[in-house]
Amino acid sequence: MANKKALRFLVSCRHCLRPIMTVAWSAGEILHLRQHLEKCAPHEVPADAASAEETVRHFRVIPVEGRA
Ligand SMILES: [Zn+2]
Repeated sequence: MANKKALRFLVSCRHCLRPIMTVAWSAGEILHLRQHLEKCAPHEVPADAASAEETVRHFRVIPVEGRA
């Protein structure tokens, strides 16, 4: 088990290949990703706003070990 490691994720866009952010995952980040997708690949934005999975699959999410 990871004991106080802050697990963070490097998120990059599969469409433009740009790194978007490094985050600890939360609903707010999903919203941020949707906003990016709306600009970057409007036709790919999932219709269901609640569908985090459908949004996240347009991005590469790589776990990184952060230091608080
Ligand atoms: Zn993009």
